[in-house]
Amino acid sequence: IFDEYAIKSLIRPVPGFPKEGVTFRDITPLFQSPKGLRMVADSLIQRYIDSPVTHIGAIDARGFLIGSILAYELNRPLVLFRKAGKLPADTISAGYATEYGEATLQMHRDALTGGEQVLLLDDLIATGGTFLAAASLVRQCGADVYEAAAIIDLPDLGGSQVMQDSGIPTYTLCAFA
Ligand code: IMP
Repeated sequence: IFDEYAIKSLIRPVPGFPKEGVTFRDITPLFQSPKGLRMVADSLIQRYIDSPVTHIGAIDARGFLIGSILAYELNRPLVLFRKAGKLPADTISAGYATEYGEATLQMHRDALTGGEQVLLLDDLIATGGTFLAAASLVRQCGADVYEAAAIIDLPDLGGSQVMQDSGIPTYTLCAFA
């Protein structure tokens, strides 16, 4: 089911977005391809179906796309990690620096109560700042990150290494160096 070359061929490089000097890795063609989406979903389902993961943590916004599929297929609760100001109830927050600037990630305070094994999902690892912020929210609740999974790693930006050095195992389906 898993063909790294096929997945990579469905990710479109967009030079100069969102600013000059950056090549954005656009996953919309991958999601527009039923075969591509199925490869991504099936690979992740197969990896985690028999794991001790208790909760799926999906990161705003492209992490939601794959996170809800995994929550459905693994029959696990879906916890949303959102950009500041989006979640309506009582939240906890973590600030972080991204490739492009500063941001804040929030989670509903009652979404995790302690002892959970959370699988974090996003589309891409760049500096790792987003996943590290999500992981700090998970840990603030007394829960653990089982693994942080993404479709794409940009290893030259060092994020996956920094995450592993912080005790967060990472898994990605492909890399662009
Ligand atoms: P990080 O926090 O520096 O690891 O950046 C990762 C976050 O920024 C993820 O939430 C991504 O969705 C987003 N991001 C950064 N660069 C790209 C890109 O080239 N393509 C798609 N998303 C990106």
